[in-house]
Amino acid sequence: MKNLLVMKFGGTSMGTADRIRSAAEICASAHQERPTTVVVSAMSKVTDMLLDTLRHAEGGDEHGVDEMLRKLDAKHRECCQDLLDGEARAATQPILDEILNEFSRIARGVLMLGERPPRSVDEAIAVGERLSSTLIAAYLRGRGIDAFALNARELVVTDAVFGNASPLLEQTREKALNLLSPALEAGRLPIVTGFNGATLDGRPTTLGRGGSDFSASILASVLDASELWIWSDVDGIMSADPRLVPNAKVLEEITYREAAELAYNGAKVLHPRTLAPLMEKEIPVWSKNSFNLEAPGTRIVPVTKDGPLGPRAVTSMTNVALVSLDPASAVLSGTRIMARSLEALAAANAEVLALTSSSYRQNFCFLIRTAELPAVIENLEADFSIELAHGYLHPIDVDLDVGLIAIVGEGMKGHPGLAGRIFTAISAQMVNIIAIAQGSSELTIGIVVRKEGVEKAVRAVHAECGLGA
Ligand code: ASP
Ligand code: MG
Repeated sequence: MKNLLVMKFGGTSMGTADRIRSAAEICASAHQERPTTVVVSAMSKVTDMLLDTLRHAEGGDEHGVDEMLRKLDAKHRECCQDLLDGEARAATQPILDEILNEFSRIARGVLMLGERPPRSVDEAIAVGERLSSTLIAAYLRGRGIDAFALNARELVVTDAVFGNASPLLEQTREKALNLLSPALEAGRLPIVTGFNGATLDGRPTTLGRGGSDFSASILASVLDASELWIWSDVDGIMSADPRLVPNAKVLEEITYREAAELAYNGAKVLHPRTLAPLMEKEIPVWSKNSFNLEAPGTRIVPVTKDGPLGPRAVTSMTNVALVSLDPASAVLSGTRIMARSLEALAAANAEVLALTSSSYRQNFCFLIRTAELPAVIENLEADFSIELAHGYLHPIDVDLDVGLIAIVGEGMKGHPGLAGRIFTAISAQMVNIIAIAQGSSELTIGIVVRKEGVEKAVRAVHAECGLGA
């Protein structure tokens, strides 16, 4: 569709009746200018509350389930009261009730079963977005705009990896064109739920936590949007986390690859998979602050105006674990061990944040998120049970006292001396470097240090590379 704008509002931008009103104003003025499609997250904290409810249910805690259901009901009921009046409220509250009833039925099923089938979890936790989209659409209609809420289950077709599904773009395009194009041509404003989808045969899925950004980019891509605006509560993508680095600055422009690397390495502004569907079509993305409309935001583009500038930003992560595998015997092929470990990681659906190896003793280590550690260790121990039992492999070593620092920038490629400067800056803080990873694209240098050194190292690198305001 020509000149189509896709906009996504995150949880904080949908967090209260007041915030929803502001988001709706942004929607209304965009819709006046050009065809617009909106994607929304659940009100902030709601997805956590839904997951918590299911945890209580799985644990047989009926009282806890009731308590959570009451809180969810109260939160949305209050918002509905504050946001809508009279007729609109009377028409909308029953829809919210019905959605929450559906959730309550699933929660009670889990309570009875004592387990949480992944597919039911996905159906249940998409409820947050269904509630928030219903609320903002009703408010917009009250403002005279022909807005309607749409469950992305009807639209976004995915594989069957529940909890972390990937889109099937061709099938999604077909549905999106059928469902959305006529509405857009008629001047209507679709408000689509972020985060969820369904398999080809209709089983509900979700795209992973924080997945509404990804939903928006999937829709922008299949609808050939001319821009995607992602509204959150920060001014854009920054050169570092401002809580760690006081003079961190908002970046005016950044490339897709840089933004993706930053997201994968811990920057919270974007879901890491957001940019992939947009790259081929070169659809520009803006990261904007719905709490500060004056701020221009960050533009994410194929190539920046100022060209590749060297390092652009530094991020860090501390919820990570370094897992090392060390063959005790020369009989084992290090390459085979590595291949099998990667299989085990894939089977656990874990993401490798960094991987390094040394050829002499064939030992290697990889960095993963702590949340993924239990599944990874379980798989590794099962796959290597014989080698471990016979002592061909040393016991698997897990180091939790580590953090990752990532320095990202397209312009780092082919700059001799840069890595040296970065390492020197870190060592000057008396922070010891445990492992280093740099891909051949030279887009990111990943450095693993002790947890307590992370903040100092981030500040030192930010200053050394002159990234601040
Ligand atoms: N509501 C979902 C979550 O909290 C998706 C999102 O907000 O992007 O993970
Ligand atoms: Mg988000």
